Amino acid sequence: MKYQRWLPNLLAAWFMMAAVNVHAADKPLKVVTTLSTFADLVKTIGGDHVDVSAIASPKFNAHFIEPKPSDVVKVQRADLFLHAGLDLELWRGPLLDAAGNTRLFAGQPGELDLSQGIPLLEVPTGAVSRSQGDIHIYGNPHYWVDPENAIIMAKAIAAKLSALDPDHAAAYDERMRAWTRQLSQRIEVWRQAARAIRGHELVAYHNEWPYLLNFLGLHAEQFLEPKPGIPPTPKQVQFLERYMKERHIRGIIQSTYFPKDAAGTLAKRTGATVVLLCQSVGEVPHASDYIAMTDYNIQQLTHALGGT
Ligand SMILES: [Zn+2]
Repeated sequence: MKYQRWLPNLLAAWFMMAAVNVHAADKPLKVVTTLSTFADLVKTIGGDHVDVSAIASPKFNAHFIEPKPSDVVKVQRADLFLHAGLDLELWRGPLLDAAGNTRLFAGQPGELDLSQGIPLLEVPTGAVSRSQGDIHIYGNPHYWVDPENAIIMAKAIAAKLSALDPDHAAAYDERMRAWTRQLSQRIEVWRQAARAIRGHELVAYHNEWPYLLNFLGLHAEQFLEPKPGIPPTPKQVQFLERYMKERHIRGIIQSTYFPKDAAGTLAKRTGATVVLLCQSVGEVPHASDYIAMTDYNIQQLTHALGGT
């Protein structure tokens, strides 16, 4: 009978599919990212070939998100899990364990740790510990706000999408190249804008800006949080008041989602301006995509520090 000839072939094909979990070329790759910024980059590079969603709302501190049961289901069904690495998402391990999708575990084909390949800042040289509440123990994990790092990230995303979905590799490569060209042009504009404000020192709420500040020739040495992840104390506000007056610091920067009272008090006492910046795409309406977010951040800084 005929089926006796094709049945073994069909079974063999099915086993091969199951073994390597081949992505069906006609269906979009299901991508789950931790942050909305990463989802934006995946959408930009993947276009219609990806179906992407982010776990963390841009309206909250990404270190301390509590994933919902629906997020666990999303991760169970995903082909690719994309994250910041280091200790940015303190909730990442428990979420992956709950979902139990082993293809997305660290080092597996369905995982992309975007910190790989990024020149990290503030990497500790000695022993690391969380003894004082520190949540940046592997180096500063907020690297994606530097647009030059976004080029590295875009290339890593295109390579990973191509590996999982080789049929559309040329499309991913083309979209990545188009976007990084556009971003590189903006980088030149931003560098020009930064000339007018170079050298300023700022105070920040959480230590999440060294990459963007480096890019712009600015810096922050002191923070409202006495340690990353530890809320401001009256003692720290007092210390910063003296520090800022001595050094004539004119700006206090923070993400939109942190409480604003400590920065407000400090601004009143020192005459400095509170500058609200975005860590994530979608944090404010202006930050509608990666380039718009970076435009917004740089405009906020140049406006506050007297640039153009
Ligand atoms: Zn942080």
